[in-house]
Amino acid sequence: MNQAKPQRTCISCGTETDKKQLLRLVRGVDGKVAIDLKGKANGRGAYLCYKKQCWEKALKKDKLEHIFKGKVEESSLDILRVSYVKLLSDEHTQTA
Ligand SMILES: [Zn+2]
Repeated sequence: MNQAKPQRTCISCGTETDKKQLLRLVRGVDGKVAIDLKGKANGRGAYLCYKKQCWEKALKKDKLEHIFKGKVEESSLDILRVSYVKLLSDEHTQTA
């Protein structure tokens, strides 16, 4: 009833949550997948939790190609892994 916040589903574990709690991945027309920190990049998007296990499960070529319905560059996967690790170290895991 007061569910005004946009809800998104993690592509790995299927948890549905406020989209601010999820990271957006976006696939460009060139087949490169990147983390979209602002959530506004053009292209097909997918959402993932910050959990490491979700990332490990999702960062597979077959999985991403299925989700994005198109070819995903192998090199994108490496970039995503590096970006994710960097992101976590940058954010200094918030203590609620
Ligand atoms: Zn998840």
